[in-house]
Amino acid sequence: MEYDVDVIVIGAGGGGAVAAKELGEKGIRVLVLEAGPWYGNEKWPRPNAEHGGESSSSIEDLNLPLLKENFTDLENDMNDLVSGKFRWGPADRSIGPWTRSVANGGTVWQSAGVGGTTLIYTANCPRAYPVAVNNIWPIPYNELIPYYEKVEEALPVIDSRPTAKENLFYYGAKQANWNELTGKDITRPGYRPQPNAILLRSEEANIPDYDMERDGEYGCTFRGHCINGCHIGPKVQAVAKRSTFASYIPWALYSGNVQVRPNAFVTQILTEPDSENVLRAVGVIYKDTWTGEVFEQRADVVVMAGGSIETPRLWLNSGLPQNAWVGRGLVNHWMDSVTGIFDREVLMEVLGSPDISPFVGQNGAARFDYPGLGVIQTMGFSPGLYSSVFYGMSDKGFAEWNEVSPGELWDMEGAVVGARLKEIMMDYKRTLSLLIFTDDEVNQRNGVSLDYKVRDAYGYIPKIVYYPSDKDRIKRDRLATISANILKKAGARTILRSNWPANLYIHIQSTMRMGIVTDTDCEARQVKRLFIADNSVLYNSLGGPNPTLTTQALAVRTSEKIKDKYF
Ligand SMILES: Cc1cc2nc3c(=O)[nH]c(=O)nc-3n(C[C@H](O)[C@H](O)[C@H](O)COP(=O)(O)OP(=O)(O)OC[C@H]3O[C@@H](n4cnc5c(N)ncnc54)[C@H](O)[C@@H]3O)c2cc1C
Ligand code: SF4
Repeated sequence: MEYDVDVIVIGAGGGGAVAAKELGEKGIRVLVLEAGPWYGNEKWPRPNAEHGGESSSSIEDLNLPLLKENFTDLENDMNDLVSGKFRWGPADRSIGPWTRSVANGGTVWQSAGVGGTTLIYTANCPRAYPVAVNNIWPIPYNELIPYYEKVEEALPVIDSRPTAKENLFYYGAKQANWNELTGKDITRPGYRPQPNAILLRSEEANIPDYDMERDGEYGCTFRGHCINGCHIGPKVQAVAKRSTFASYIPWALYSGNVQVRPNAFVTQILTEPDSENVLRAVGVIYKDTWTGEVFEQRADVVVMAGGSIETPRLWLNSGLPQNAWVGRGLVNHWMDSVTGIFDREVLMEVLGSPDISPFVGQNGAARFDYPGLGVIQTMGFSPGLYSSVFYGMSDKGFAEWNEVSPGELWDMEGAVVGARLKEIMMDYKRTLSLLIFTDDEVNQRNGVSLDYKVRDAYGYIPKIVYYPSDKDRIKRDRLATISANILKKAGARTILRSNWPANLYIHIQSTMRMGIVTDTDCEARQVKRLFIADNSVLYNSLGGPNPTLTTQALAVRTSEKIKDKYF
């Protein structure tokens, strides 16, 4: 079986969905091949239990009640890395997740499926820092701005409304003498509301007993649980959190030119020399993840958007030309967290309420930007995730066994377990956690290659190497100190720095860098008609800001280039 299409997009995540919509709206016929399942689509009523349909191209197939059956508030049900609905693996739960070989162990946190890792992302959508792009990227920052604007308007990206955790953070930041920032192009340090891709509800929806779904309204209810998969809205395409399964994929279907086939893992890019003996992409081989059936699909252009690990893996497994930067230069915003625990009296004085309740509101709704260093942002989850993320991991071992160096602003450093964890979690409602993303530098030794000792059903598995540098460590330490100071100024009684290990992979970027592996149009230098539209094509770590908006802006730009050049 072969579809009659012009472009194949590999992956329906943060970047691929945008490319599909943009190309579809230009009248180009697109087939999206996505390795994971599709939740909330009538063609797949039991997406993890049975094969269901083959592909969907109709907006009529989207079904909100079905989505609600799948997206629960149970943390383990959704986010267990092995069995959760948002795991990195095929839809079929009788098969294990896809494995990776990771040099320093650890966790690669991604989700497969229509929506990709945006199914679980917290929708924070800042632009890159201009200083991280100008005179560094092969294109200037100004060239990105119209594309940023287009994505920001479409999703839309809106300044978040604060709940208690953000108000306490703003208070601490002000007390620490930082300034509030305005505008989107950030050139100096300061704090501001998080630009989030989350719909705000109308004032009307604040009336008690107003039923948004009954009354056809939309917007965020601030109920929390964003990371467990938002399903709040009157229909799939109006779900509050603008993961691409609820935004760009429905718009792609509206165009009438896009067909999406989930459960389809691409294993090879097909190439042929053209009349001038230049290699060009002509199609792909893919496997149905339920049946193992293998298909060949031809098209005029292929867009790789499998994410920063699978895109280089697919390049290498396809035997595409060697290039010293394919898979190299991985950056990961080496993260850390600093948590403050507050007394009721202090909270009453600052907030007028005795609790912060970190599970309430959008998961991350306030931020602190520091061009040159990176990012700090508020983060609140439901208790299971909260304890594992903020107390469960450290490079320093257990906090109980560590002595904090004199002069540090935190009282404890390390992971918290056992009786101490129980004690700390008793104060869960009065804790404020800050998450740090370091502006880590590109290093060619970090990246993705193939582990030639292990194959899965789709080829040799990817091998990931990432070690931050001494400069990265210095930047992260400075951000941890700023975070602790903000918490102290806000009145925290006890402060804990986790000191996360470098092997938690969340903001994975830059393994197929624009201008090196691709040209400035994001077309592969060595293979014509092969484009890249995911995080892998970003040139560096953007200075620290969350990566997806920049990937999406580039995907819009790349779609324009594809149209201009080939259609
Ligand atoms: C918990 C969490 C919170 C996050 N919060 C934020 C945030 O607030 N803001 C932000 O900017 N970023 C956030 N991120 C990161 C964000 O999710 C990623 O930046 C974004 O999803 C990357 O887009 P992508 O297209 O590169 O990859 P993905 O979104 O991972 O999409 C890749 C897709 O391709 C599919 N695929 C892979 N290989 C193949 C193949 N060979 N054939 C077919 N399909 C394939 C995958 O199944 C997947 O669906 C968060 C990440 C996590 C884990
Ligand atoms: S806080 Fe808002 S975006 Fe997050 S899950 Fe709830 S309704 Fe959705």
